[in-house]
Amino acid sequence: MSDLYLPRTAVIDQRTQESPTIFTLRMQFEDDHAQQAFDFSPGQFNMVTLFGVGEIAISIVNDPQDSHFFDHTIRVVGRVSEGMSGLRPGDRVGIRGPFGRGWPLDEARGKDVLLVTGGLGCAPLVSVIRYLMNRRDQFGHITILQGVKHSSDLIWREQYDIWSREHEVKVLLAADVVTREWRGQQGMVTELIGELNLRIGRAIALLCGPELMMMAAIANLRSMGLADNQIWFSMERNMQCGVGQCGHCQIGPKYVCRDGPVFCYSELADFMGTKGF
Ligand SMILES: Cc1cc2nc3c(=O)[nH]c(=O)nc-3n(C[C@H](O)[C@H](O)[C@H](O)COP(=O)(O)OP(=O)(O)OC[C@H]3O[C@@H](n4cnc5c(N)ncnc54)[C@H](O)[C@@H]3O)c2cc1C
Repeated sequence: MSDLYLPRTAVIDQRTQESPTIFTLRMQFEDDHAQQAFDFSPGQFNMVTLFGVGEIAISIVNDPQDSHFFDHTIRVVGRVSEGMSGLRPGDRVGIRGPFGRGWPLDEARGKDVLLVTGGLGCAPLVSVIRYLMNRRDQFGHITILQGVKHSSDLIWREQYDIWSREHEVKVLLAADVVTREWRGQQGMVTELIGELNLRIGRAIALLCGPELMMMAAIANLRSMGLADNQIWFSMERNMQCGVGQCGHCQIGPKYVCRDGPVFCYSELADFMGTKGF
């Protein structure tokens, strides 16, 4: 990448509406060489520019082996994401990235992997779930716990069904508020952790979602015997430069954009839940 601050143009290839406020954009770089050279690790993100409006950090949600495109799943929360929801195939965005440190794939290889996600917190984890599913023989048991506030908020339902039918894969869903058709549990996703029969010595936990949810999950996992270096999570902070220069996403001594967004609990235990630095 020649200039870290200069976005490259990508063209929207497909747009999928996942829920009333969540959509996925499949895109590819206008320049074929840039697309071929694009390589990322699950958990990394791009800074995506809506020209004339602004730039936001968005996780990459596909498996890195998909070399002809990359996917971003975006929730409408404000000005830029709302503008992006109007994009259609053929429209263009700017891309800087991939940035940050992704999930600890080497650490996870050969282990049982527990993935705990809340809300659209699932976006940074979806790429790693796809990675694990496409390389099933390299990992032990996989357990996916996904929580949402309302059962109708759950996206990728069919995908969860497909994953749950894989060998030694367990998917447990929880919603605070449920409709009659809901087949998961009612309650908080963190409550599901206590029901698990984890093989503590060979487990690694990957968490993503609201910070309070992750803190509760970490407390449960630690009380079950997981060591701090077996627990990893993805942090979210307002970001601007994406490359550890501007300081907007600083937490204590760390820049979430450059040193994270994925951290080991042992690295950031003292700073979780802190808003400023
Ligand atoms: C590493 C990383 C990966 C991300 N991946 C995704 C993703 O895959 N999909 C997705 O939809 N979103 C993702 N986000 C969040 C996304 O960057 C913000 O939602 C986006 O910046 C909102 O911009 P906006 O202009 O639409 O809203 P704004 O008008 O900027 O913000 C609307 C509200 O959201 C708050 N807000 C904005 N950004 C953040 C943030 N990063 N953390 C906490 N609060 C924030 C603002 O303070 C405000 O209250 C990610 C963020 C980070 C840091």
